[in-house]
Amino acid sequence: MNAINQSGWKPEMNTAEGAAPATSTGNRALMLEEALIFEIGTTETTGVDLPETPKGASRLGSLARAKPIGLPGLSEPETVRHYTRLSRQNYAIDLGLFPLGSCTMKHNPRLNERMARLPGFADIHPLQPVDTVQGALGVINELAVWLIELTGMHGVAMSPKAGAHGELCGILCIKAALEARGEGHRKVVLVPESAHGTNPATAAFAGFTVENIPATAEGRVDTEALKARLGPDVAGVMITNPNTCGLFERDLKIISDAVHEAGGYVYCDGANFNAIVGRVRPGDLGVDAMHINLHKTFSTPHGGGGPGSGPVVLSEALAPFGPLPFTARHADGHIQLVEEETVGEDHPHSFGRMTAFHGQMGMFTRALTYILSHGADGLAQVAGDAVLNANYVLRRLEGVLDAPFAKSGHCMHEALFSDDGLPAGFSTLDIAKGLIDEGFHPMTVYFPLVVHGAMLVEPTETESKAALDQFIGALGSIAERAKAGDASLKAAPHYAPRRRLDETLAARKPVLVWKEAPLAAAAE
Ligand SMILES: *Cc1c(COP(=O)(O)O)cnc(C)c1O
Repeated sequence: MNAINQSGWKPEMNTAEGAAPATSTGNRALMLEEALIFEIGTTETTGVDLPETPKGASRLGSLARAKPIGLPGLSEPETVRHYTRLSRQNYAIDLGLFPLGSCTMKHNPRLNERMARLPGFADIHPLQPVDTVQGALGVINELAVWLIELTGMHGVAMSPKAGAHGELCGILCIKAALEARGEGHRKVVLVPESAHGTNPATAAFAGFTVENIPATAEGRVDTEALKARLGPDVAGVMITNPNTCGLFERDLKIISDAVHEAGGYVYCDGANFNAIVGRVRPGDLGVDAMHINLHKTFSTPHGGGGPGSGPVVLSEALAPFGPLPFTARHADGHIQLVEEETVGEDHPHSFGRMTAFHGQMGMFTRALTYILSHGADGLAQVAGDAVLNANYVLRRLEGVLDAPFAKSGHCMHEALFSDDGLPAGFSTLDIAKGLIDEGFHPMTVYFPLVVHGAMLVEPTETESKAALDQFIGALGSIAERAKAGDASLKAAPHYAPRRRLDETLAARKPVLVWKEAPLAAAAE
């Protein structure tokens, strides 16, 4: 039967006066619907024609598959369309402003991509003999030198594959250092209330007990409360600077001195380094370990766009415990890949390995390109412009949305708002969903936990004033609609490919498995 007749659609329904008609396809103009690959593919279809395999005795024995695997196939053009259609339902940094606080969603310069695709970097294998990949090892080594220079630290572990992985690396260094001192009994890690969830998770995963340190009314760590908790059972602290309220922790040096005095170590979550790169060296603030999210500060693509990379800079006290492998440049220019711990050499204390190989080579190449193309002055300007843009957002919107720490002074790279002042029945979620209709990815919501209904906006330095003005206009107008009691906001988004989900049901009864398997059945 003809699909058009089935839906009851007739050409005269497309009149200017009438309501928008349902389309027979479900498509809305150029926004195309797309079913799951399991629904549109068949086991018989494939993008390639393979010759019939010659009959021969199988050596798989009992491991041979008894039933067809049932994976759906599509022809090559169908495959390309399937993924292109799905990608058009997504939002990307190449489409528009991506104000996701704490994530530093900045433009990824195309020069970085060009460098990462050079065959000498892109087409090599981690098991190639070291002499054949000196250039690639040189990139890792040079990036390491830059990261040490920018942070004022002593060493760096390049292999961790993201921020959270870097946290684990840093905490394992602290653990190894404590054990080497015979103080493995120090089991408590102090974490401020405003910390990213990965901080307490990392400490707990590494076998520590996490204790929260409260925040002051102005949104910073309560230094006195922290000092009061220090003692012989404390392994260290994990502090984010700038913190997740978008504020600089001015007391960090005082805190570090007190923690060191009490025999502990200072882990700094460096995810927000973008706000201070080229301006503040965490080493000068007494930090012992800090991860750097190359995919945030140094513009390597992340989210759906690419893998993360989380090198960890280490103080003189922790560097000997860092993981293998690492690179070392010799006087003759040769770069050594130090892969084994050898007793008697200068790295017998390494806690081990984080990854099979050297880390994220593609991200290293992009990050070094970014650093070299900006130079020292350019990196300092990145931080300055990121902070300027965030303060512009904060000051333009503080009259419309509640800005709990606006009185604490300038913010750093991100502006924090709360749901205080929204009328009863309207929440942060409604504001976020309204932004989708306006064509923006929402900001980070309900994080950090220290303010009610948090909305955390990080514009980054790569947005123009025109783009910021458009975003501010959109967010401001949504806040005004909520204040005017506009109930349509409660059903937003109206124009997105999918409407608002039942998030409670999704959390309580998640459907995680594709149940129907018509293809496998049909193939048998
Ligand atoms: C992003 C982020 C992390 C975790 O980094 P990943 O690379 O996502 O693992 C940790 N802490 C803070 C404050 C962050 O913003």
